[in-house]
Amino acid sequence: MTEVEPASGAVHVRAPGKINIALKVGAKQDDGYHPLATVFQAVSLYEDIVAEPDSRIRVSVTGRHADRVPTDERNLAHRAAQLLADATGTEEGVHLRITKGVPTSGGMGGGSADAAAALLACDLLWGTGLAREELGHLAAEIGADVPFALTGQTALGLGRGDVLTPALARGRFHWVLALLEDGLSTPEVFRAWDVMTTTPPPAPAIPSELMQALVSGDPHRLQNLLVNDLNAPAIRLQPRIADVFDALESTSALARVVSGSGPTVVALAADHAAALGIANSLRRAGVADEVLVVTGPTSGARLIESVRAAETEG
Ligand code: ATP
Repeated sequence: MTEVEPASGAVHVRAPGKINIALKVGAKQDDGYHPLATVFQAVSLYEDIVAEPDSRIRVSVTGRHADRVPTDERNLAHRAAQLLADATGTEEGVHLRITKGVPTSGGMGGGSADAAAALLACDLLWGTGLAREELGHLAAEIGADVPFALTGQTALGLGRGDVLTPALARGRFHWVLALLEDGLSTPEVFRAWDVMTTTPPPAPAIPSELMQALVSGDPHRLQNLLVNDLNAPAIRLQPRIADVFDALESTSALARVVSGSGPTVVALAADHAAALGIANSLRRAGVADEVLVVTGPTSGARLIESVRAAETEG
């Protein structure tokens, strides 16, 4: 990942990508949204944002899949900065320099991580001094996955995924990520789920065994509990996911699942050595465009460095 050097008067914030260890989907409601029950875990794949003073709000993007990310008002980091400015009445501007590490449209919440990082970075740069709770409210206005990118760690998400309850997870889990270049649109995957779901599903819920397995820190206890109701619709839209699943059958992966709306596939490894072995097998099989080994949980959006203009002038 490219390291970002903060300039004078700059704030450097880092926010993690997420995986969904479990994702259960309920029937579409009148407002068009599906109620969800999910378990998020923040993993060691990051978005770095350096916020520098500017006369207006602007965004530039480098790093993984940067060419697919808008730099105008559609960018979630831009929206986050604008929302904070409107909420606090500040007339400050900001240049948000984003270095992406999380795949775009990969089901790992990269854009949400940018929004969370931008909220924290602008709050620090502008001295607007909002409490984490207030930042959390603004985060939920931007998108369902943004509050989790602020808090990180492991959490149960209900509602649209934005009603969070921290979950206790002991130790460190080792995950192998299989990235596919052709991203999936989250609304399209939900539309495919609507078409494929002929009998009304029960209200979505996460089994207590899963929460207990996380507390135990034992990946073997988690093995049979990884679930994603969006696996089938994601595979229908991106059949290469099935090739990754097949290739994982002949590895030591304890379990595999699509993250969020995909197409990233997440495989659970028993330990770090096993994760490296699984990653090598996947690379040899040539079924994914990129294979990464990460760990979780990790913290949410956090300050890496703050350089005051006065400090660098002397
Ligand atoms: P989700 O959080 O719904 O699972 P995702 O992880 O699959 O999303 P993202 O990379 O967060 O996907 O966002 C994908 C879409 O959002 C793309 O259409 C992209 O153009 C747009 N987008 C807006 N801002 C950003 C950003 N800062 N980074 C990445 N994508 C962004």
